Amino acid sequence: MAQGHSVDDYLETIYFLAFPIGEYRPITGGSLTLASRVAEMLGISRASAGEMLKRLEAEDLIERGEQKEALLTAKGRERAERVVRRHRLIERMLTDFLGYTAAEAHVHADELGDTFSDEMVERIAERLGNPDRCPHGWPVDTVFEQEENKELSPLSDLEPGAPATIVRLAEHDGELLHWFYDHGYVPGSEIRLEDLQRTAGPLAEKAAAGLFVRAA
Ligand SMILES: [Zn+2]
Repeated sequence: MAQGHSVDDYLETIYFLAFPIGEYRPITGGSLTLASRVAEMLGISRASAGEMLKRLEAEDLIERGEQKEALLTAKGRERAERVVRRHRLIERMLTDFLGYTAAEAHVHADELGDTFSDEMVERIAERLGNPDRCPHGWPVDTVFEQEENKELSPLSDLEPGAPATIVRLAEHDGELLHWFYDHGYVPGSEIRLEDLQRTAGPLAEKAAAGLFVRAA
């Protein structure tokens, strides 16, 4: 059993696969594929991921679809949405109240995980003035997020010279996230793929896949 990954960590990961944008590719081809993708995203073995997926299925959080693919149940989806919303609000608490940088906030928010009860999270949201987005541009409202996914694309999908505005940053790679902030690639900035390719060198491909933009 993988240490340190809770049911909520898994649900958060599956959420990104269920409502994909860019590098978070859809789930196709059955349970093994899902176990592999989850294992890859959490940095654990496929066996550990498979074991946990069985537990999630037993707890009625995921179910098998027509093609044997794993899907969030209504209960699983509701909990997954609560988990990602909480993560985004805790990040804002860390940046807005405690003075952490946006680059630091993601990891600390992951560590805090389910420290806060749902009621505390609502109080945090209220004190923050009900922010629209986490520091990295991800909407606090998951329904809005899923709608907005359709309007955004990874910078890597655009023509090199096409102007775009950065809306969200991929957060799961801590090193890349720091790199974005060190180079001023933050939500709201204007960007072109060719500029990134010029400055990012060997990182360019990864960086372009992790910047979610709105084409101008
Ligand atoms: Zn964030």
